[in-house]
Amino acid sequence: MKVFKFGGASVRDAEGVRNLARVVKPYALDDLVIIVSAMGKTTNALEAIVWSYCDGRDTKAMFEALRRDHLAVLAEVAPEDIAAAAELVLNFDSLRTLLEKPTVGNVDRDYDGIVAFGEVWSTLIVSAHLKAMGIGNAWVDARTIIRTDEQYRRAGVDWSTSERRASTLLSEVEGTPKRIVTQGFIGASSEGTTTTLGREGSDFSAAIFAYLLDAESVTIWKDVPGMFNADPNRFPDTKLLGHISYREAIELSYFGASVIHPRTLQPLQKKQIPLYVRSFKDMAAPGSVIDAHSENDSLIPSFIIKSKQLLISITPRDLSFIVEENLSDIFKLFAKRNVRIDLMQNSAVAFSVVVDDSPRSRELIDALGQAYEVRYNESCELITVRHYDEATLVRLTANREVLVEQRSRSTARFVVH
Ligand code: ASP
Ligand code: MG
Repeated sequence: MKVFKFGGASVRDAEGVRNLARVVKPYALDDLVIIVSAMGKTTNALEAIVWSYCDGRDTKAMFEALRRDHLAVLAEVAPEDIAAAAELVLNFDSLRTLLEKPTVGNVDRDYDGIVAFGEVWSTLIVSAHLKAMGIGNAWVDARTIIRTDEQYRRAGVDWSTSERRASTLLSEVEGTPKRIVTQGFIGASSEGTTTTLGREGSDFSAAIFAYLLDAESVTIWKDVPGMFNADPNRFPDTKLLGHISYREAIELSYFGASVIHPRTLQPLQKKQIPLYVRSFKDMAAPGSVIDAHSENDSLIPSFIIKSKQLLISITPRDLSFIVEENLSDIFKLFAKRNVRIDLMQNSAVAFSVVVDDSPRSRELIDALGQAYEVRYNESCELITVRHYDEATLVRLTANREVLVEQRSRSTARFVVH
């Protein structure tokens, strides 16, 4: 059994949905679990609805636009499927009813309950279209399989319960081969409330399903033909990483490479399930494969650039050394505000960190300022180069002011202005 994952960009409109069917078609003999994200920018639109709803503002216009667009796509890709249309209308009705009720008073819980609709809509449409094309499939609500804790917006998976629920999934599907269409990104708590795995979490869902069902492989179908040694939208001469190890891919995504969601690789590595990254625009292109073999890992320098970074430098007011007590106090403040540290460095009297510039980071600076002397540089870039060579480092830091530099045997990192 193979797991396929299609992101929002691949199903952004009727043509995208049709293309998905073209991608799936050649796999006529394979059992498939097809994981789909919300269409195009639907999740962003639903987030806007959440904020309006929580502020008591009107959500009707935004709701109607989503309803109109989704019904129009369904009418294009499965014009004869009256049952699917009725189901989609019902789903919009239940969101409308929810938005007419008062909030539950927990923004994150409201968020998950509302935002999850995007994936339900897209999968209803994809499932209907595949059927219309003669590609039989069962639509499955991922919330009946993926059990999570109640950490809304970044739920943790309850692996053993999910495993138990998944164990009968395939045998319940009729027909051969067995094909399932289900949602990325969403799950449910033991109370049955909807949870989400965090933005861009559908890759992780694909890995969860693959793990639970002992899949032979996962393929993430993207608008780029694989993983590259740098962002192909930003650099002209990027090279495809045809084959890399889980370890290397985890490092790359940890440092900010955005091709795969960082939580995706661990479950796959545990069961040694290979991950393919391929182009839904060019099925002949070989793409990248990520698996346990590491022979090809260190061939070319890979670089990842994160912009809009804050370099924060924290000094105790009395210039006491940055000792363990100070550090644990500082780390607690970061953890409490959920601010992720991208790089850190300490000297006798200062502790410096690099973080994304976000409202949360700004609040953290204020909180730190109560006990420490805090200085910061904004608009920095964090450059990470795996398997660096001098030529690449010179090229990337030319004409830049280097504020911090760190090198290990395999990785060089720079904070530049
Ligand atoms: N639709 C969700 C998002 O946009 C999940 C995903 O696309 O992976 O964040
Ligand atoms: Mg998405």
